Amino acid sequence: MDEIRIIDIVEKMRNYLLNRVPALEKRLLGFREHARERSVQEIKMLFLAVILGEDIESAPVKRKLKLLLDELDTGNKIPSERERRAQKIHFLQESISLYGKFSDAKICQIREHLETIDKLCTDEEKPIYSQLAGFHTGIEAVNYIRKNLPLLRGLKAYHFLTGLEYPLFVPDRHRQRLLSRLGFLQKVSTDAVHYQRIAEISEEIHRVSGETLNGLNLIFGLFSGAIKWGTKLTPLCVRKPRCFQCPLTNYCYYYHYVGESKEREAITIYGLKQLDTHETPREKMLRDGVGGMSNAELLAIILRTGTPEMSALDVGKILMKKFKTLDALSEASVKEISELPGIGEIKAVEIKAALELGKRLMSSGFSDLGTVTCSTDVYKLYQGKLSKAKQEMFYVLLLNTKNRIVKEVLVSKGSLDTSLIHPREVFKEAIRESSASVIFVHNHPSGDPQPSRDDIAITHRLYETGEIIGIRVIDHIIIGRKSYYSFADNGLLRSK
Ligand code: SF4
Repeated sequence: MDEIRIIDIVEKMRNYLLNRVPALEKRLLGFREHARERSVQEIKMLFLAVILGEDIESAPVKRKLKLLLDELDTGNKIPSERERRAQKIHFLQESISLYGKFSDAKICQIREHLETIDKLCTDEEKPIYSQLAGFHTGIEAVNYIRKNLPLLRGLKAYHFLTGLEYPLFVPDRHRQRLLSRLGFLQKVSTDAVHYQRIAEISEEIHRVSGETLNGLNLIFGLFSGAIKWGTKLTPLCVRKPRCFQCPLTNYCYYYHYVGESKEREAITIYGLKQLDTHETPREKMLRDGVGGMSNAELLAIILRTGTPEMSALDVGKILMKKFKTLDALSEASVKEISELPGIGEIKAVEIKAALELGKRLMSSGFSDLGTVTCSTDVYKLYQGKLSKAKQEMFYVLLLNTKNRIVKEVLVSKGSLDTSLIHPREVFKEAIRESSASVIFVHNHPSGDPQPSRDDIAITHRLYETGEIIGIRVIDHIIIGRKSYYSFADNGLLRSK
């Protein structure tokens, strides 16, 4: 990982947060000192808070947890629902109640866990804090907690440990999303191998930036919305990110590859997924056919799914932004493709396979519309189709770098009017297909191929546009009844 990049990212996040909540500084500095050892009762309350998904930092929650703990500690047999109703016992009506939320069996388990915490804290050999201090990695500590307190499954063990101020980075989906947008991670997942990878990444960020693991956990948590901090602080990198306020745009893959001009505003306002929920690429293809699909949309269909933060279309856009052309994408290795967010090895292999099929189809000549080396080649190809046509038709032939016609686009049918042949319409497909060059072909139903003043004006205008956007205009051919006219051969292919 690029160390300067890591330092700058952490610094910018830290500054953003401290500018809004100066009190945070004290909390971050606190992590540099030894964690305060909590009493057995505090650890039990923390356990209950994690089980119930409550915030232990909140004073009212603390009060309620204390009440709840007292009730559980009495050791009385838990009355059944019917007994409770008969005796008119209302458990902790004003507080958090386990009854109704959990079955009696589960409550028994919770009681057993509280007893285990008692034992872990009073163990003469190694009480819980000395035990935790002996582990080299956070994952070891997580496993120890899960083994002794099996109710703390999944991320609960992480929350319990961070509650004890054990140095740990919680790999929840909020923080993972931020890591993946910044290019540290490729996907958001809940498997153990992935958690191990996040532990390594957070260790690396901690080593390079000098920020404590708990500090990083807090900074990433606040920035991504995993942790709330009053009303003064607005998390930026939430599902619909507020990129316009974010100091990390320079480092963000999401912003760099997906957000652009208007789209960038839309990302900010609606979030990407919503932008594309009107119609999926698959629906568009079914409705309009494959011809009008962009490369990103076609890639999205191959990819099928995106990530929790990005639709398949977003990932398709990222691919096209990165590799610019399909040629470049087909030349890229599986490793290069799978390095992008939202694309694992399997998807990279699928993309490579689809592009290889396309290449083979092209080389088999099936979709090859012909290769042109001079104006006569074009005439031969279009003479049969256009020399006897009753209407004027204007075609753009899209060529690749080997002068092979890869696509033919009919731009206008009917009388050829300068206003109908707009450069935007003419070059739209050429840009989409990343064509190297284009040839224009149209016919004169009168049979005389000599260009009119309009033909000359259109040609100049289109030639100029091609120069500006970097797509070479090779020729404009007019097909007559028995002959043709080539602007290139007659030296008229130039700007005005
Ligand atoms: S630029 Fe946007 S997506 Fe990227 S980290 Fe910032 S808020 Fe998140």
